[in-house]
Amino acid sequence: MSFDLQSLIPKHLAQLKPYASARDDFQGGREDRVFLDANELPQALHGLPSYINRYPGNEPSVLKEKLAAVKGVDPEQIFLGNGSDEVIDLVMRSFGRPGKDQVMIFPPTFGIYAVRARVNNLGVRAVDLDSRFLVDTGKALDAFTPETPLMFICHPNNPTGNAQPREKIIPLLEGFRGIVVADEAYIDFSPEKSLLPLLERFPNLMVIQTFSKAFGLAGARVGVAYASTEIIEFLDKVRCPYNLGTASIRLAEQALNSHADLRLNVTRTLRMREQLAEELTRMPLVEKVYPSDANFLLVKTSDANALYSHLARQGVVVRNRNNEPGCRGCLRITIGTAEENQHLVRAWTAFEKKGGVNGLQTARSLTDRDEPTVTGGFKERRFVSGPKARKATHRRTTAETDITLHINLDGTGVSNIHTGIGFFDHMLHQVAKHGMIDLEIIARGDLEVDCHHTIEDTGITLGTALLEALGDKRGVERYGFTLPMDDSEASVLLDLGNRFYLKWDARFDAKQIGNIPSGMFRHFFRSFAEAAKCNLHVKATGDDDHHKTEAIFKAFARTLRMAVSRNDSDTMPTTKGML
Ligand code: PMP
Repeated sequence: MSFDLQSLIPKHLAQLKPYASARDDFQGGREDRVFLDANELPQALHGLPSYINRYPGNEPSVLKEKLAAVKGVDPEQIFLGNGSDEVIDLVMRSFGRPGKDQVMIFPPTFGIYAVRARVNNLGVRAVDLDSRFLVDTGKALDAFTPETPLMFICHPNNPTGNAQPREKIIPLLEGFRGIVVADEAYIDFSPEKSLLPLLERFPNLMVIQTFSKAFGLAGARVGVAYASTEIIEFLDKVRCPYNLGTASIRLAEQALNSHADLRLNVTRTLRMREQLAEELTRMPLVEKVYPSDANFLLVKTSDANALYSHLARQGVVVRNRNNEPGCRGCLRITIGTAEENQHLVRAWTAFEKKGGVNGLQTARSLTDRDEPTVTGGFKERRFVSGPKARKATHRRTTAETDITLHINLDGTGVSNIHTGIGFFDHMLHQVAKHGMIDLEIIARGDLEVDCHHTIEDTGITLGTALLEALGDKRGVERYGFTLPMDDSEASVLLDLGNRFYLKWDARFDAKQIGNIPSGMFRHFFRSFAEAAKCNLHVKATGDDDHHKTEAIFKAFARTLRMAVSRNDSDTMPTTKGML
């Protein structure tokens, strides 16, 4: 079907003259100009960025240039919005005739489409996804009328998590007379490719992406639309001037430069998604964990409302999708940190142990509503039991390294460790696993020089975070010990007594173990012990250096586990009153 953009422009907008700023008359730099046109303050308040007193200038163009280079489109094919929510709303405002037109959506899907349609006095033509959550293209093409200028396909779909295969989307692009808006908020998590390369072929395609998800910039509110230059020009006419703040634009630019970090975060999220899916699948109340191409899971349970209420009581907020078409019993769960996911699993397990749905009849009274708002009142109902959580997050940045480490002493041995040094990661996984400590370490160091700084600074960061997580050490055991293993024998003694001492009695024949100079292991433990202010005695004998090293790390983990385990006394293990 041929596409005629002009026929989609509502009469009341056809002759629209956009708001013009005097500054639009001037190209080029700002430096040599005196701007007395926009009633701004001539300087920023003390301590705020020096650019912030001015309305945005060429910042959107700079970001568009960068995005264009990354995405392989022209800068004129890019529209920037205050989050993709603004883009969604603006597309409706631009192409929908209030009181007359309808937008087509495919439920269960992102709720904003229907809400913004209502706000813009547009109708909603809903064509439900099939039982596998795929678009029924035949039904969709039968359902549109001359009063349907827009259709919204969420790809991957929120809340179901699945992307639509191309075979489902292309017939819509070919057969629909209006604009097909593909919302790719979660595309970075998906093995299915973005539809961006189809822009050249289909003038009626618009792709929406966002900095809120994989780029981790939800607070900055930056959304992007990609489409033909004609569509983008029209959106630019209709939007409010300066719709995006300079600070947000600059943050988005910065995020674009952190592509390696984005990949790391996505990989980590995908790994944890699989881990969480596996754990949830084992829960008796879980009927199904749907496959996901996004950073969340849709989980079908035998009673979503009861579980939702229970989790909320435990301070875990998930999304109840029970009332969405095809989603009876479903909760949508975002992938959090390893520790947040474990918190969810623990709360869920507690519910199952309590007798699940039957045991929760009284708890149901909290809320049986679909969508509780997280208000102060709701938060007050959070209940935190037991002793104070012993966890800490520490970031250490030097000229050589940037290390972020999270530790939970009362964890279950879950780890997520990336130092860039394979063998070292392997050893640190042992510390988490055998120490029953949750450990997340993202270290970026000058490995192009060697591994020295990364290992040393990881040791310091681990020690510092441990000290912080221990707090006043009330209720912890002061000593740990361990036993030999395999052909090697390692013994680690630890006293968390606030005094540093390292006694090292381990010799290696090999110069390198797992590509790490063997002297670095002593250095790692020294760095740790100094930062954690502890006495650490390490002794190892044996034939195989690899085994010896592994034995030391495992023994260290076991020792740490004993040393930080709580006793019931709630006292400090010292006669001095402090540790
Ligand atoms: N599209 C989808 C499918 C979403 O799930 C969300 C947010 N949950 C958005 C768009 C909104 O994104 P933004 O933060 O860019 O407004």
